[in-house]
Amino acid sequence: MKFETLKEFLLDLFFPKFCLGCQKEGCYLCQDCRAILDISEFDYCLCEKNALRISTIEGRAGRCQRCRDKTLSGLYFALPYKDKLLTKKLIGQFKYQPYLKDLAGTLASILIEHFLISGKNTDEIWENSVLIPVPLDKKKLRARGYNQSEELAKELSKVLKIPVISNFLIKTKYTKPQMELSKQEREKNILNAFSTNKKSGGVSDTPPLPGKKVFLVDDVYTTGSTMEECAKVLKNAGIKNIWGIAIAREG
Ligand SMILES: [Zn+2]
Ligand SMILES: [Zn+2]
Repeated sequence: MKFETLKEFLLDLFFPKFCLGCQKEGCYLCQDCRAILDISEFDYCLCEKNALRISTIEGRAGRCQRCRDKTLSGLYFALPYKDKLLTKKLIGQFKYQPYLKDLAGTLASILIEHFLISGKNTDEIWENSVLIPVPLDKKKLRARGYNQSEELAKELSKVLKIPVISNFLIKTKYTKPQMELSKQEREKNILNAFSTNKKSGGVSDTPPLPGKKVFLVDDVYTTGSTMEECAKVLKNAGIKNIWGIAIAREG
């Protein structure tokens, strides 16, 4: 028995897992509750209202004409965030108390299922790519003990076989929780909050990720201001092809 398996066995013994949907013992999301989640078979544009369904397969653009000025090329997400109590609960318990860091595996598997059923299981999409988690500021990271987006990226990386780069994009400004703010306030709040880490070679004249496609990873996509701000910083560092991945999308 591998040490990891043994550790898991002991943890399960002392801290049994219960389904967050129906309280059944065994895991955080049982098969029955997973089956009622509305995992998307489609892709949608970045548009804020009435997002258009769009085909992102085989390198086609992930956004419509209205959204062509955005830095982000497109977004992959698995679940709707509104009125889905279980999705909210899963992500809530992953990010906030009781800080179920282990949920990263379950949530990543939901994204993987979305990639499969929406036809994104082709090498064309994932080759020459890296995953970059949306970073947290130091204060937040200390309070939570981990960056939930990074945990998610690590789990995705195991299946997609593409690397996670966590030291390149950093958050340098403390910001208010975006949840409490209007769209305009969100944009102002997050403006200039991110930067590339100069110590990791993040200077614009020598892009450390030349020619790579970057997938920004976050838990929830709401107005998109956080991801767009991250994408702008990466673009300034010389990266041209930037996409987003989120477990769920609001609106
Ligand atoms: Zn259940
Ligand atoms: Zn659009």
